Amino acid sequence: MFAVETRLSRLLAAATAQSTHYRKLGLIRNPNENAAQFLRRFPILTREQIRDDFAELVIDRLRTHITSPASVASGGYDWLVVKTGGTTGTPTGVVHDAEFRDWGRTTRIFAQQLCGFSLGTPYFRLWGSEQDLRHQEEKLDRRVLRNLLGEIPMNAFRAKESELRQHLRMIERRPEVRHLMAYVDAAVSLATFVEDRKLPKPRLKTIMACAGTVTEEWRRILERTFQAEVFDKYGSRECSDIACECSSHKGLHVFAPNVYLEVVDDAGQECPPGKPGRILVTLLNNLSFPMVRYQIGDMGVWAEPGACPCGLAFPRLANLQGREDDMLATEDGTLLTSVFIRHFVGVSLNRQLIREWQFEQIGPRDFVFRYVPLKPDGLEDNLRQIQSSFVAALGASTRIQLEPVTAIAPSPSGKTQWIRNNLRR
Ligand SMILES: [Zn+2]
Repeated sequence: MFAVETRLSRLLAAATAQSTHYRKLGLIRNPNENAAQFLRRFPILTREQIRDDFAELVIDRLRTHITSPASVASGGYDWLVVKTGGTTGTPTGVVHDAEFRDWGRTTRIFAQQLCGFSLGTPYFRLWGSEQDLRHQEEKLDRRVLRNLLGEIPMNAFRAKESELRQHLRMIERRPEVRHLMAYVDAAVSLATFVEDRKLPKPRLKTIMACAGTVTEEWRRILERTFQAEVFDKYGSRECSDIACECSSHKGLHVFAPNVYLEVVDDAGQECPPGKPGRILVTLLNNLSFPMVRYQIGDMGVWAEPGACPCGLAFPRLANLQGREDDMLATEDGTLLTSVFIRHFVGVSLNRQLIREWQFEQIGPRDFVFRYVPLKPDGLEDNLRQIQSSFVAALGASTRIQLEPVTAIAPSPSGKTQWIRNNLRR
């Protein structure tokens, strides 16, 4: 991948020469080192560091213009401060320059193509965090653009029954529209609603599942409810689109011309294919605000290397494993990913008895299992079964409180939080 080597070299050279944050580290590339080797000598960049060192990350040429995350470009299509989604904690601002914004648009279109809907094909967009809703009073040109792109918006934020019914009517009224781009948990809520109420199944062709981890269980419920092909897409506000599944469904292709990805363990060592680790993102085309080895907070696994049947050469992640903050600690301190725990619960949970649930770690050995009961018959047995599978996964000394509730509160951004770790927040 010669092009990647060139882009990575260009970025690291710009960072060490033009950004005070990186200049202070005094990193010098050895003559016999390739760009990836040089990159591995860079420290990991955390959100806290971006917040603390925001102005020093900006390259010299723009430092007088961009002084804080509140800075605004003087006009036209230029750099822009973008804030992280902030599922938890303080939002972090990063700068995207015009070149990177172009790349963001390009990868977005490319991802849609991978998922079977090329530019101009109409699609439903089931979307909406609180932040998005505030932006709904958007400018006319953006609304025109959405229309041109064929986007049919549906609000996914904290959907109530009446809204879910409205979404289904909308899909029914537009049978010619066969594609859905959605917050994965909003799409799953809609699918679960259809299944639980035994409503007629709306038929789609493809679903691009975004902004969450697509577990096997979720993929199956989306496939059987919408009779659609599901594509997992991975991205974030601050890094734009990062990877997307192709029609071969052999993992998610990383958008290598725009992002350089690493998967590392706790010691910072590269994880081999098959071993989950934290994802580090390097933005190759955002030279005005170098983000090198940015710890995005997600866990992922590399797929086995080798050609993908679809013919695309970009490297592949096998899957995503949830948020780092949501990992739970066993009695011996081993961290388990939220996807693992969810799968574990999914196997023992009877969905006819328990609709929604949340599992939270509140102490080194203490956990709470919150659940919304549907009916009493058999519930106690099922709870005992769930409890014993947790003990098997987390250790014999684990204490689990059972807490029946009427609803599970979503995160501030409107997503379901199945797994929470109170100790790591
Ligand atoms: Zn492929």
